Order: sequence, then C-alpha cells, then structure tokens
Amino acid sequence: MLELHDVKRHFGGIRAVDGVTIAISEGTVVAVIGPNGAGKSTLFALLMGELALSGGTISLDGRDMRGLSPDRRARLGMGRTFQAPRLFAGLSVQENIGIVLHARRGQAASAGSGASAPLAEVGLEDQAGALAGSLSQGQRKRLELAMVLALEPRILLLDEPTAGMGVGERASIMGLVMAAVKRRGLTMVFCEHDMETVFAHARRVVVMDRGTLIADGSPESVRGDALVQEVYLGRHPGSEA
Ligand code: ADP
Ligand code: MG
Repeated sequence: MLELHDVKRHFGGIRAVDGVTIAISEGTVVAVIGPNGAGKSTLFALLMGELALSGGTISLDGRDMRGLSPDRRARLGMGRTFQAPRLFAGLSVQENIGIVLHARRGQAASAGSGASAPLAEVGLEDQAGALAGSLSQGQRKRLELAMVLALEPRILLLDEPTAGMGVGERASIMGLVMAAVKRRGLTMVFCEHDMETVFAHARRVVVMDRGTLIADGSPESVRGDALVQEVYLGRHPGSEA
C-alpha cells in the first residue's frame, strides 16, 4: 500500500533520513522507534509531503507521490498527528474539527455532523463547546486524534500519541486509537518512546537510528535484536528513551 524506496532528507550536512526502504501493507499497525534525533518525525513529514525528499521515492497504491501537497495526500487518505498537538486554543473543540475539515476538504467550517462522530470516538463529545486551550494535555491529544479521524484517513500516522502522559492515560488513548483503527480498518504507523505501548499494540516494529533503519520485524524479533538493545533499548550514552 505504502512504499518507501531509499528515502532521504538532508538538512545541510545533517542526514536526518538517510536511505529508508520499507513497504507497509494495508491493515498493518507499525511502530517506529529510535532515539531522539533518529529521523522519525522527519520521516512522517516526508510521508505527508510537508518536506520535500532529498532522494528516493514514496508511493501510495503504486502511485509516486512526488510533488503532491499535504492537502492532496490528505485527500488520498493520509492523515497525521503531530508530536506537539497543533490546535487552535481560542476556538472550541468542535470548531477545531470544523477548521481541519474546511482546510483539507473544503467542507463547511461549522461541520456539525462531521464533528460529532470523531468526538464520540475519542470520548470528547461532552467537551464539544469547550475551548481547546482549556483542555488537559491528554484531552488535547484526543482532540488532535478526533481532528485527523474527521478527515476519514485510510492511513493514520501518529507522532508520539502518548507523549507526556502517565501510564493510565497512555493505555486509555491507545485503547481509543486501536478501537478506531479496528472499526475503520485503518493502516497505522506510530512513533513511540514507551516500549510497553509499542509491544502491546504494534504488529511490526521498525527501528531507526541516525536516519537509517537498523531493524524491522515482529516485536519479539526486534526486542531480541542485539544492535537494537545496544542502540536503543539498552540506552547507551547519547540515546534517550
Ligand atoms: P526524531 O523525531 O526521531 O526525534 P527528527 O526527525 O525530529 O528526529 O530529527 C532528525 C534529525 O534532523 C535531528 O538531528 C534534527 O535536529 C534534524 N532536523 C529535523 N528537522 C530539521 C530542520 N527543519 N532543519 C534542520 N535540521 C532538522
Ligand atoms: Mg520526533
């Protein structure tokens, strides 16, 4: 479904993503792990077309996506959330959903019907009229999830969906995410630092380090990989969990 071949993105001398090749089949849940600075968020930006490739190709359903804008990719079914939620703090929860629908799909910004289903999916239906700026961190993450679900993606890219959360909140948002993935039959790629979350939900785990893939396989095989243990799980000097 989604194929990356020798994908590269350099920033001056920094090789943020340096030759990533991976094919993701429909319906898979893939976790991308790796130390801070490994290139995970850059990879997401390349997938969404927010950054241009320095090399390689990305194709969706066999179609080369080079030159397609983020909006175009959203219409083709790609949806993402950001490491730090991007919300309009001065607007209500429901208006935030209206904005993304309007921006990405050209639908009416009021979005009464478009907003209610995704809000119920993330358990925020009672907060529809609340200001986004008044929400807790966990509620902001949920609102961002509702915003991407409102676009009815086929492929969900979540950049650290549990960042800044405690154990209980992590389990609860991942429960909502996985229920939405199942209900909607989505393909999902998520970056995650919390290993418990990764091993609980991913069917496949891809490990990045300094822009390259150092491992790719089942959670069990990746957990047992010596290089992965050294670079990431072992938290050698210079890596951060
Ligand atoms: P991760 O999400 O795995 O923590 P990032 O993709 O954010 O890693 O960053 C990978 C590398 O690319 C880091 O060295 C980072 O400093 C660098 N980088 C990311 N975005 C930019 C940018 N816009 N300009 C320059 N360097 C960047
Ligand atoms: Mg990141």
